[in-house]
Amino acid sequence: MDVNLYNTLTRQKEKFEPVKTGEVSMYTCGPTVYNYAHIGNLRTYIFEDVLKRVLLRSGYTINHVENVTDVGHLVGDGSSGEDKIEKSSREQKKTAVEIVDFFTKAYLRDSERLNIIPPNILAKASLHISEQVEMIRTLEEKGFTYKTNDGIYFDTSKLPDYGKLAGLNIEGLKEGARIEANQQRKNPTDFALWKFSPKEPPKRQMEWESPWGIGFPGWHIECSAMSIKYLGDLFDIHCGGVDFIPLHHTNEIAQNEATFGHKTVNYWLHGEFLMIDGGKMSKSLNNIFTLADLKKKDISPTAFRYFCLNAHYRQPLNFTWQAIGQAKDSLDNLINHTAETILESQAGQKVEKKNDDEPAVYLAKFDESIYNDLNMPQALAVMWEVMKSPSINPARKLTLATDFDTVFGLDLIRLARMRTKIDSETKKIACERIEARKNKDWEKADKLRLEIEKSGHIVIDRHDSQFVFKNSDSKRAPHRK
Ligand code: AMP
Ligand code: ZN
Repeated sequence: MDVNLYNTLTRQKEKFEPVKTGEVSMYTCGPTVYNYAHIGNLRTYIFEDVLKRVLLRSGYTINHVENVTDVGHLVGDGSSGEDKIEKSSREQKKTAVEIVDFFTKAYLRDSERLNIIPPNILAKASLHISEQVEMIRTLEEKGFTYKTNDGIYFDTSKLPDYGKLAGLNIEGLKEGARIEANQQRKNPTDFALWKFSPKEPPKRQMEWESPWGIGFPGWHIECSAMSIKYLGDLFDIHCGGVDFIPLHHTNEIAQNEATFGHKTVNYWLHGEFLMIDGGKMSKSLNNIFTLADLKKKDISPTAFRYFCLNAHYRQPLNFTWQAIGQAKDSLDNLINHTAETILESQAGQKVEKKNDDEPAVYLAKFDESIYNDLNMPQALAVMWEVMKSPSINPARKLTLATDFDTVFGLDLIRLARMRTKIDSETKKIACERIEARKNKDWEKADKLRLEIEKSGHIVIDRHDSQFVFKNSDSKRAPHRK
């Protein structure tokens, strides 16, 4: 089945066709490691992981490169202001290297907890200075740069289609720029390729020699230089959050196309924001939560992943404690259904009226959903239909759930299996209850059921069989629906 993806560049859904048959080359903008990733950032990384899983399921191999920004990303995202890493280092009284190491590790831990498949290459900006310098030199040779007293800038007026990704109104920006304070840039959209280290203290920790003087690369050039180094001058997919469209990705395109004279990326995909109180969740707005904050309220990373899957990646998603609580309960129910299905399957249970065509219909619906620009809410609905269907055998349900979960990445089967492992005391009571039911001692069976339920388990009677499994791993156990 064709994979259809919405391309920001063309503003339409397109059939995905890779540069090399059977292979996908993909670059995702990774974290700026000056602090913990907030759950808004994590929503974008989950969307990118789902994209990867969908492509893997459709049979492609993937070469995925992700960057770690450890230099050059300035407060405010533009070409002026303090470097986010250097600022964090000053505030936290740690060296820049310590900050970068600590928050890179924290990011990798968060990714693992969210079942995000690691990239093939995780590329640090500070380890690719020569590639960035080389690219700036080429841009200089081709006449796209100019020097100001604080750095080397890209002249965006030299590219006739600058801003095409975002549909930027360049004339409008020029109008606005007349009242702009920064008189150094020739055009308001021009951006720094190389910044000179400030002459006045404090001295920067991250700085390098260059043909233009001691300094550091701009934020945009790192992604251009590293994506092209590892994926070549024409690759398939480039992703990030929607905030990267008008600035970061617009400037990457400008640098790439000025360097090579042709398009370098075929598909640009962007994830919408995680919102809070009607606005973007963002560090600068001081309205963020991290996975650690969720944990304090007994919300697991998997529950957050499930919460994200319930919205299409191109729709803003509003974060509230009530909404995430509902997602957590819903995931708990899904795990319980799966646990029950595992036990039924182990017991060789069969449904009374089997519909042989049904699994194939669900499989087709699932594929249609995921290959239609990653419609995960619809795919989740298919998963629920399967789990609740009275006419699919448990073993078949499990096969479908296992297959679907290669895309959801919820680790559903393992979580459900954990719930089926009950302690010896509960097992003993469960056996007593089987005996009581055999002897038609319903009063005793009810009493024992209550006892089992009180210890946090679910009891299900199916025909002559009884299935017992843990209700939930959390303290706030939901009722099974
Ligand atoms: P940064 O660490 O700021 O470079 O951002 C890392 C990624 O998170 C980028 O792809 C951003 O577009 C994305 N991002 C930032 N804030 C949000 C948000 N509130 N919701 C979704 N993605 C976001
Ligand atoms: Zn980037």
